[in-house]
Amino acid sequence: MRTAIYPGSFDPLTNGHLSLIQRGLKMFDRLIVAIAVNPKKTPLFTVAERKALILDAVANDPRVEVDDFQGLLVDYAKRRKAHVVLRGLRAVSDFEFEFQLANMNRRLSNELETVFMMTGEDYFYISSNLVREVASFGGNVEGIVPPNVLTALRQKYATVTPAAATKPPAKKSASSPGKKR
Ligand code: ADP
Repeated sequence: MRTAIYPGSFDPLTNGHLSLIQRGLKMFDRLIVAIAVNPKKTPLFTVAERKALILDAVANDPRVEVDDFQGLLVDYAKRRKAHVVLRGLRAVSDFEFEFQLANMNRRLSNELETVFMMTGEDYFYISSNLVREVASFGGNVEGIVPPNVLTALRQKYATVTPAAATKPPAKKSASSPGKKR
């Protein structure tokens, strides 16, 4: 049984992540999508929410397990008895960071190999960070995230519409229509 760990923050899952999961399943029998928990960061979605969104987006595919971990990936991989890490490469800008990370992980554990997959051509510009930013200003991220994530983002930002965020407070005036005394 070939198992790989696909680690990330998935805050939230995007179609870029989903494409990597689907294509990863052609190479591996099982994928552990591992949400890296960083206590120093305040995520938009809780770990439980992110887990539920991922499971729902992969339609509870039995080949996909969703888990979370804190600390070093190499230690988590050891605990899970996995020897392969799956990572995605979008633009050249990803390369340097991923190269550093993969080499550091190899130094920490020579039992762990990192496998890279190129992003799908439609997804090379998508990051969770950008999705959060666009959605927070009321931008439409349809087609960029799975439908369940789209709904969850709309719910999260329901109270912060762009109009509400940018509209100056209404001036109080004696002649305001509808003002009752
Ligand atoms: P992000 O960088 O979007 O915040 P993560 O930290 O959750 O996402 O990334 C986890 C992994 O998924 C990383 O290897 C990252 O390069 C990869 N990844 C993220 N978005 C995409 C995408 N659009 N296409 C391919 N791989 C991606």
